[in-house]
Amino acid sequence: MNKVSKILSSIKEQPITDPVVLERFDSFQEYIAEENQKINITSITDPVGVATKHFADSLSLLRLDVFKKEGQRVADIGCGGGFPGLPIGLVRPDLRLVMIDSTEKKIRYVERTAKEYGIEKIKCIAGRAEELSAPDAEYREKFDIVTSRAVARLSVLSEICLPFTAVGGYFVAMKAAGADEELEEAKRGIGILGGKVVDVVEVPFTFDCDKSDFTADESAELDEFSSSRRVLIVVKKVRPTPATYPRVWAKITKKPL
Ligand code: SAM
Repeated sequence: MNKVSKILSSIKEQPITDPVVLERFDSFQEYIAEENQKINITSITDPVGVATKHFADSLSLLRLDVFKKEGQRVADIGCGGGFPGLPIGLVRPDLRLVMIDSTEKKIRYVERTAKEYGIEKIKCIAGRAEELSAPDAEYREKFDIVTSRAVARLSVLSEICLPFTAVGGYFVAMKAAGADEELEEAKRGIGILGGKVVDVVEVPFTFDCDKSDFTADESAELDEFSSSRRVLIVVKKVRPTPATYPRVWAKITKKPL
């Protein structure tokens, strides 16, 4: 078994057991490493780093009840090299994904990768989130779930993600150690944008993994990932977002709500 499958199959809280799916993730890691030599997309390409920080972390979203329903419309805002959206698409072909990033090069790579891995229900859009979710835009309040990782602090992220979220749907922010402080600072703005924080879910990772062929560095990398905090902040869209939001990016970042 290769290192990626070993790691993904050994997550106590959420093991992946299907050998076909595990093989696809093994192949996907190799693909990322190869493609990254041609176009620089991510700083993480090694098997243990990709399996933990990219694959396991992305898939942790599927622990949430809000993901259980089939066929939902899911947006990944600021998807970069395709995280969390691509791993989600690999294991949940029923979901209708829209990947959004302001960098054309990254979004074309995500599109090619989705094709390579047979992810069919996916649209990849190059553009700025705050423009694509403007009041008269096609994607305004159209998604059952909007998610985002490593794009901005929650106070900023909420203003570019909640306008995409349909009333009754959810915005899920993937956060790490500073989650509590970010949440405190963003709460008021979330309310203004029509959201309500309904859950803050800790996502622990316990690996019950045979590390006999891991180097000391790889073993340490796995332990470090396992001991770092990861949190999913779940915001329900309870009211439409006022037409004055989102503002232009300079205002969003200089004066978060
Ligand atoms: N979500 C990916 C991940 O976790 O690996 C990528 C994170 S990367 C640090 C942040 C990405 O957000 C970049 O690819 C950038 O182009 C994109 N981004 C930043 N602001 C954006 C905006 N206003 N609209 C769309 N994309 C944005």
